[in-house]
Amino acid sequence: MQAAGFRRARRPRQTRMARLKRELSWPRPGGVAISLAGAALVVTGVLALPSEADSLLPFGAAAPAISQSPTTPDTAVAPASPPLPTGPGTTPLAASQQDAEAPFLLSGAGNSLSPLPEVTATPLIAGSAAGSPLQELFASRTAPPMEKALWDINSPARPLVLVNKRHSLLPQRYVPTDLVVPRVLTGSAEHPLLRSEAAAAAERMFAAAAREGINITIKSSYRSYDTQVSVYNGYVAAKGVAAADSTSARPGFSEHQTGFAMDIGDANAGTACDFASCFASTNAAQWVAVYGARYGFVVRYLPGEESVTGYLAEPWHLRYLGVSVAQDMKVRGIHSYEKYAGLPAAPDYK
Ligand SMILES: [Zn+2]
Repeated sequence: MQAAGFRRARRPRQTRMARLKRELSWPRPGGVAISLAGAALVVTGVLALPSEADSLLPFGAAAPAISQSPTTPDTAVAPASPPLPTGPGTTPLAASQQDAEAPFLLSGAGNSLSPLPEVTATPLIAGSAAGSPLQELFASRTAPPMEKALWDINSPARPLVLVNKRHSLLPQRYVPTDLVVPRVLTGSAEHPLLRSEAAAAAERMFAAAAREGINITIKSSYRSYDTQVSVYNGYVAAKGVAAADSTSARPGFSEHQTGFAMDIGDANAGTACDFASCFASTNAAQWVAVYGARYGFVVRYLPGEESVTGYLAEPWHLRYLGVSVAQDMKVRGIHSYEKYAGLPAAPDYK
């Protein structure tokens, strides 16, 4: 999507273009020089995070956790979370051991006592392909520390959950437990609900856009399984199954059911382009395409990715993936979450 062409630009065009170019070339957080083979570099990478903490926080994590965890790759997570199974022969360190090891690693001494090895051997993100960009992001430590239990693309409760026509929610009638009403403009009669961290991110994003005179609205957000039954059946009745499947998910296969997805509108543009391809030309669509990743959102269904995502382009459908993943996808120029997670295309229900 083109970054230029805001119709309501309040600043000189050259200035805005320069800003957009800067945003689009935003360097990968944490730097690319981080090496798993070098303990000192890993620690350097982790310690370098706080300066950009606000833009790097994934999934609404609290900032202090980043600066207080200059630990090893396997231990740079909240110790309270249940650890994922580790590779054979590895022994998770107790919290006290982690703290004790950190100064040792900072000294740069590399010997057999270092608890660094296993990181690249075991896929970090359950369900994601080994060697995928998603795995690389977390293995490289450019992603800030967070609960390891969140690193799972199979569970509908996790922010990294992948939902498509070959990857349904399990259980299919899953209901999130922490839905809240985001304090943002609404653009429909639907009562907006999002998972709490996605709601907080949406509030920050909508406020930032509003400061530039762009008034984003929520048209649709969390939808229950039963609501999706009605939505999908409505499309089928109106257009038939094939057309319905290109624009609406079947119940149990919708990102909206996770509470991490929302459809947006543009209050200044009227409703003529709501849920229509011309929405791509609105200021709201162009703004979120450029800046959404800063707040953890990606435009989930992009043009050119139809055979991968299984859906026609939807410039209004945003998916919350967390700041580090959303920004990494943008920096790498990967336009579908399927490719980013290293999973097969999902053009149909099979
Ligand atoms: Zn949607």
